[in-house]
Amino acid sequence: MPKNPFACAECHLILTDGKDQCDRCPSAQVSSDWQGYVVILKPGRSEIAQRLQVDRPGTYALKVNVR
Ligand SMILES: [Zn+2]
Repeated sequence: MPKNPFACAECHLILTDGKDQCDRCPSAQVSSDWQGYVVILKPGRSEIAQRLQVDRPGTYALKVNVR
């Protein structure tokens, strides 16, 4: 089974393979322990996007666990 990619604990963005730092929030923690894979195409129209405070399209994790 392939290893989970990292997700940003700040903006919930799922990072592309091999990346361990979010472009948007370089100081934020990242974690490979996350749940719920959501693809957000139109943040303005998506309830989930509003809940996660996502303002641009992308692939996000619903929940990111950091230690
Ligand atoms: Zn981020």
